[in-house]
Parts: sequence; C-alpha cells; structure tokens
Amino acid sequence: MKKLTVLSGGMGGAKFLQGLLHGIATGRLPGVSPDAQVSVIANNGDDWWVHGLKVCPDLDTVMYTLGEGIDPVRGWGRREETWSAKEELAAYGVEPTWFGLGDRDIATHLVRTQMLEAGYPLSAVTEALCRRWLAPRYGDRLRLLPMTDDRVETHVAVDDEASPSGLRVVHFQEYWVRLRAAQPARTVAMVGLESARPAPGVLEAIGEADVVILPPSNPVVSVGTILGVPGVRDAVRATDARVVGLSPIVGDRHVRGMAEQMLTSIGVEVSAAGVGLHYGPRTAGGVLDGWLVDERDRAQVARVEEGGLACAAAPLMMTDHDATAAMAAAALDLVTGR
Ligand code: GDP
Ligand code: CA
Repeated sequence: MKKLTVLSGGMGGAKFLQGLLHGIATGRLPGVSPDAQVSVIANNGDDWWVHGLKVCPDLDTVMYTLGEGIDPVRGWGRREETWSAKEELAAYGVEPTWFGLGDRDIATHLVRTQMLEAGYPLSAVTEALCRRWLAPRYGDRLRLLPMTDDRVETHVAVDDEASPSGLRVVHFQEYWVRLRAAQPARTVAMVGLESARPAPGVLEAIGEADVVILPPSNPVVSVGTILGVPGVRDAVRATDARVVGLSPIVGDRHVRGMAEQMLTSIGVEVSAAGVGLHYGPRTAGGVLDGWLVDERDRAQVARVEEGGLACAAAPLMMTDHDATAAMAAAALDLVTGR
C-alpha cells in the first residue's frame, strides 16, 4: 500500500497519526511501503473567529503535533508558550477571557488570517503553514488538508431555564472550553455543513487511497463532521480502498474529551460496538469494512460482526508511538487480511 488517507479530529487523530507515521518509518505496518504517502483530511468544524483571528483547532493540533511544535502537556497550542497577549487583552476587559491563544500561537493565527483576507482559501493557507511544520520532516509523504475551504461551525444546544425554548445554543468552543462539556448536549448542529464543498484534494485522497482509516477521533464532532461535508461520505462509500476504523470508546467510556456527551446527543449507544455500528458497514449504507475495538471490549466483537463488519479486539490505548503503531498495524491487518 502506498496511499493512506486518514479522517482526523484534533488530539486523538494527531496521536494516532504520530503512531501511524512511526509505524511506516520503522516498517512495522503490514503491506505498507516505507515511502507511503499519508493524506490527512482534518475536521475544521471546530473553527471560530476570535479577536479577529481565524482559529482552526484540529488543523493546528495535527500540524503542531506532527511538526513537534505542540505543547505535550496541554496537548494543544505551542510548546514553550507565553501568554502576554492574553493578559493584555484581559486587562482591556476584552471578551472572551476564557479562550486563550498563546503568543507563539498568535503568529500562526496572524499568518492564517492575513492570507485568508488576501483571498487564499484555507487549504492553501494550511499548505503554507505546513511548509514550516511538516515539509522539512516528511517531504511529500504527508499532506494535511482541511475537509472544506468553506466556513463550518459546530454549535451545541444546552439547557437554559431562562430561555423561552429552555435551550441556549453555544459555539462548540464555548461548550468545550468555557462549559467544559459538563452539561448535557441536547443537540449538535454544524452550521454551514450542508452547503460546504470538499476542499481541493479531499475527494481524490479518498478515491485514490489504498486504505482509508477512521482513527479513534470523536465520531460525532470530528469524523462525523468530515463525513457530513457533501460528497465525502459518498466518496468513502465508493472508494476501492478498504476502510477501517478504531474505537475512541474503550470500556464504554471515552478515553478523553467529550465523545460520551456527543454520542448521547445523537442517540448512539456509548460503546465500541455502538460507534462501529453507527458508522455501519459499506455493504449496508455505512462507511466501514472493519472496526477495531479495545481488548476490554472483546465481548462486543460478535455483535459488530453480526452487524456486517469485520471486527477484532486489540490494545487501543495510545500510550506511546510503538503502542499506537501496533494499533495501526492491527487495523490494517483486519481489512487487508495479511
Ligand atoms: P479532538 O478534536 O481534540 O477532540 O480529538 P479527536 O476527535 O481526534 O479525538 C478525540 C477522541 O480520541 C476521544 O473521543 C477519545 O476517546 C479518543 N482517544 C484519546 N486517546 C485515546 C486512546 O489512547 N485510545 C483510544 N482508543 N481513543 C483515544
Ligand atoms: Ca476537535
């Protein structure tokens, strides 16, 4: 296999990609050529505008993580960060004070916003930013594509007694960063998704791939958003590539983040089997050929198989690059039958 395409969210997807690239570089992935090309189609439905800057959290998490610029403790933003600009904005009383961009990170956002305002599409801006972070390390063996150049912003409805509808709709960032996903999400809406067009290269990356991988990213607000861009789900359903996913739910809990809240909001059972069957087999209208669950969820394998998917259990905790590479190998094994 020479072409691998991954539909990625932020932290979970980025960590998986680190292990995948490590596995390729060390020859540990069955049937994958050492010079294989990885195309990452990243969710950009978490995006928002703040302080006049265009923020693309998942694109930046993937870019900084794979480019070794990420803060390893926070898992987002730049390492060796300082926060003077944030403090200065707070001193002016500028809202929102709950959302911080570090000083180094602001430089990335200035470049992105200036280029967008000069008329470049987000995909071209992303390519330009990756010339610093990814090209020196991976050359043309790694490409990062936003799912769309169009504006898509995820919103979440939460309970609000003071509102006549009993609900209040907040931007995804407010739900996650300010509310810490501590309240139930009643509904999730991706504003702009229905009229978004896949960014250049997205449909080709799916159509020309040897294997398409759904990493253990959030199935609703990461992978679900990417699949929701008109044309993307159909491309995944139609590709000659095998399509395999890895469960972000382990032991009926998310490993981190808010997949539990998001799955509940769309009425999907919070379990490895629940997510696999939600994606569904390509033979019955879904997007997968195979689904890998954690060894703790081995008892769910039969149910997933009955639902029409190849399924296996393996350790799915991304504790280090070797463990994650082994996960990628097991996922490829499942659908390529080596
Ligand atoms: P986000 O955009 O930063 O939320 O990141 P993603 O959507 O790419 O990934 C979030 C998902 O990664 C969560 O649902 C987690 O449960 C999952 N996750 C994080 N670490 C691990 C891990 O070590 N193993 C597994 N199986 N899932 C993980
Ligand atoms: Ca995200």
